[in-house]
Amino acid sequence: MVAYRLYMAPLRVAVIGAGPSGLSAARLLASRPQDFDFEVYERGDNIGGTWMYSEKTGLTENGYPVHSSIYKNLITNLPTDVMEFPDFPFPSDSKKFMHWKEVRDYIFAYADQFNLRKDIQLNTDVKSVKRITTKPVPSEAAHQSPNRPQWLVRTTALQGGGSKEKVFDAVLVCSGHYSVPHYPDIPGQESFNGVHLHSHDYRHPEPYAGKRVLLMGAFQSAFDIMKDLYPHASEVIISLSELDGLCLGELYKKGLLPHNVRTTTFPQAINGSVVTFTDGDTLEPDVIIFCTGYEYSFPFLDASCDVTVSEGKRIQPLFKHMIHSRYHTLMFIGMPFTGLEFPLAYLQVPIALMILDGSLALPSEQDINKETEADYRDRLASGQKPRHAHKYAFPPRWSYTVYCDEIATFAKIDNVMQPKYRSFEVVIAAMLKNMMTYRDYSVSDSHLECHHSP
Ligand code: FAD
Repeated sequence: MVAYRLYMAPLRVAVIGAGPSGLSAARLLASRPQDFDFEVYERGDNIGGTWMYSEKTGLTENGYPVHSSIYKNLITNLPTDVMEFPDFPFPSDSKKFMHWKEVRDYIFAYADQFNLRKDIQLNTDVKSVKRITTKPVPSEAAHQSPNRPQWLVRTTALQGGGSKEKVFDAVLVCSGHYSVPHYPDIPGQESFNGVHLHSHDYRHPEPYAGKRVLLMGAFQSAFDIMKDLYPHASEVIISLSELDGLCLGELYKKGLLPHNVRTTTFPQAINGSVVTFTDGDTLEPDVIIFCTGYEYSFPFLDASCDVTVSEGKRIQPLFKHMIHSRYHTLMFIGMPFTGLEFPLAYLQVPIALMILDGSLALPSEQDINKETEADYRDRLASGQKPRHAHKYAFPPRWSYTVYCDEIATFAKIDNVMQPKYRSFEVVIAAMLKNMMTYRDYSVSDSHLECHHSP
C-alpha cells in the first residue's frame, strides 16, 4: 500500500505492446488491483514481441510492417540467468543460450503463470495517443495537474475492423525499438546493383550460398549473421564501423575468425557494384546486409504528446530514459539499450507506478531538463554519437549497471538487477575476449571461466 494517494479510484493505465516489457508491466500492474485498472494492446496476433518469429518480411497480412527482427536459427546472445524475469526463472534444464523458440515458450509460460492473457487485447493496433487538454470532470480531477494529463487512446481491431477510443490516466509505451531499420548515409548507396537488405529482414542463410556477402556494422547482429552465413557463403566481409564493439578486427588479426571471413573498414562510397572503403580498399559484393541498428519510432504519439525523436535515436524530452519530462503520466519502458529488457522492466515499471500513485515526486521540469541535457552533452564530449543518447554500453560511466543503480537510488527502491551484475559482467568479458566461443562459457557461484578462449 502506498504512503498516500492522489486519487480515489484506481488509475486507468494503457500499456502499448505485449512483448517482454509490456508483459512485465501487466504483471506488476496486476499485482496492485486496488491502485490500477489496465489494458494491454498488442498489434500482433500473439504475445512475445520480438520473440514471435515471422517467416514473412515486409508487411503482414494486415498491411503493417513485420515487427520481429529475429532469424530462423537465432540463439540468444545472453544466458538465461541474465535474461530472465526476476520472479520467473527459466526451467532448470534450459541450455544457457537458447533458440528463440525456447524463449517464446518461456514468455508464454510466464503469461500463463501470472494469468496475463486475459488483460491483453491481441490484434489491436494503437493508432493514436492524444493528450487531453480539456479540463477533467471534477470527480476525476483529484490527481490531475498540468504535469499529469489524461490520454485519449484510439485503437483499431485488426480482425473485424472497428475503432475505439478510451480515456486513460496514464500510458506506458512498451512498443520495442528493434523493428524500424536504421541505414547509414553512404554516398551512392542507391546505385548498388546487387542484393541489399537490412538485418531486420534476414531470415535464412541458404539464399546466400556461394555469394560474397558484405555485412555492414560490427555489433551483435553482424556477428550473429556472419556465424549463420559463413558455412554457406563463399566469402563474408564484415565492415567495421568507428566502434568495433566486439573486437572483431582483433579476432581477425589473430586468425580466430573462420577461413572465409575477414574484416575491413567502413564504406566511404558505393558506385554501382563497387564499394570503396575508408582505407581505399574496394570490393564487389553480391549482397550487402545492413546490420546498422534500429530507430526509435512512435507513429502513434500525436503531436499533442510533444515527443520527438531526433537522429532516429534520441527521444525527447525524456527523464532517466523513461519519463516524459513535462507530462509525467506518459512513460516509456525498455528504451535504454542495455539489451536486458526482460529484467529491466522490473526496475522501471515500479518507478513508473510510484510516479503515478504519487509516492515518488519528480524534480521541476527545469531541473529535469538540466540533468538530461548535461548527460547528453557529456556523452557527446566523451566521443559518443547523437544516436547513442540512450545507449548503455560505454563503461565505466554509461554502463547498464550504472543506469540501474541510478534509477533505483533515485526512486529509493531495491535494485532487482543487482544480482545479475556479476553474470552480466562475465558474459560481456567472455564476449569481448572471443565472440566465436563466448556462448560456451559456464557460470557458477564459485567458478567463473571462459572455455576455449585464446
Ligand atoms: P518487443 O519485444 O519489440 O515488443 C514490442 C511489442 O509492441 C510488439 O509485440 C509489437 O507488436 C507491439 N507494438 C508496437 N507498436 C504497437 C502499436 N502501435 N499498437 C499495439 N502494439 C504495438 N534480448 C535479450 O535479452 N537476449 C537476446 O538474446 C536478444 N537477442 C536479440 C536479437 C535480435 C535480432 C533482436 C532484434 C533483439 C534481441 N534482444 C535480445 C532484444 C529484444 O528485443 C528484447 O529481448 C525484448 O524483446 C524487448 O522487449 P519489448 O517488450 O521492449 O519490445
